[in-house]
Amino acid sequence: MESHLNIQKGGDKLPEMINRQFKRKKRKSLSVADYVQAILNGNIIVLSQAITLVESNNSEHQKVAQQIVNACLPHSGNSIRIGVTGTPGVGKSTFVEAMGEYVTNLGKRLAVLAIDPTSQISHGSILGDKTRMETLANNKNAFIRPSAAGDSLGGVARKTRETIILCEAAGYDVIFVETVGVGQSEVAVHSMVDFFLLLLLPGAGDELQGIKRGVVEMADIIAINKADGDNLEKAKYSRSAYRNGLHMFPAKDSGWIAKSMTCSAIENTGIIEIWQSILQYQQFTNKNEYFQNHRNNQAQYWLNETIQNQLKRRFENHPMIKAQLTTIKKEVQEGKITPFAGAALLMDLFLK
Ligand code: GDP
Repeated sequence: MESHLNIQKGGDKLPEMINRQFKRKKRKSLSVADYVQAILNGNIIVLSQAITLVESNNSEHQKVAQQIVNACLPHSGNSIRIGVTGTPGVGKSTFVEAMGEYVTNLGKRLAVLAIDPTSQISHGSILGDKTRMETLANNKNAFIRPSAAGDSLGGVARKTRETIILCEAAGYDVIFVETVGVGQSEVAVHSMVDFFLLLLLPGAGDELQGIKRGVVEMADIIAINKADGDNLEKAKYSRSAYRNGLHMFPAKDSGWIAKSMTCSAIENTGIIEIWQSILQYQQFTNKNEYFQNHRNNQAQYWLNETIQNQLKRRFENHPMIKAQLTTIKKEVQEGKITPFAGAALLMDLFLK
């Protein structure tokens, strides 16, 4: 089947997967049904091409992408989606490699996706240079995908969510969504994963590491990485400090009590324990039904988000709004009309 599988040349230049063991094939047209069948067969080249369509801002690509995602939806969901965050340098890619090796050895299939809030500036830095994930990149049970570059956070988030669906349909049962812990991206990631892992460095408090309190509260596990060599004692101390501190936070809706652990991604210690805690979490939240309820709530959240984004985009692109927005903004600024009157005028133009 593979020899017929190709797609039209896309308008947008987007990053392809970085797994090296899968060579690109020549492209030809594929029907939506061809895409879906190949994805369900676990064809990684077609999966990659479908993700490129999801990431494309070309409206034709988006139309096809939506059909593919919809057709894959009934085959998705059978995974654990894990968000991994932490400041640059904390060891996220090293950790994901170590954990990835472990879970693929258990027979799992792993997809690593990224949300990069800085990609607009740096053009996909977070996983763009994650050819560093040398071992995983050559692991046939792992699929690594950089985030779409040059997009807003909302755009990347939607695309990542849809990419999760495609990966699950292709049989990936462990999904890592990685993000740099520096801003709003954690909230976006949190709204698309089942489990949230925060990596911290030994010693420095989270504020010093640029981690916001809200992010610490979101974590289901706080893992103090680099618990090795001279840092081991400091890491143990941090772990206890967080263990005590975590009690001060309000109880989570999941009923799960966040854990504070240590690990060394380089020395491969603590990785198994973290994985086991993730499984414990999955069991616990399956039993109290939070797992599925949470996913349903996330779907509602994304429905609302998407409606709001699309309305906003249509509003901003409306010819009458484009023609009048600057004038009305100026009048509001100069106090000639109130913001409410200005908004009412614009809405009238939009709805005419
Ligand atoms: P990221 O920016 O969060 O993805 O961090 P990286 O995984 O690229 O790691 C940043 C640096 O920390 C690299 O030089 C790694 O080798 C190092 N590093 C990562 N994990 C550990 C660890 O567990 N122990 C030690 N000592 N160094 C680590």
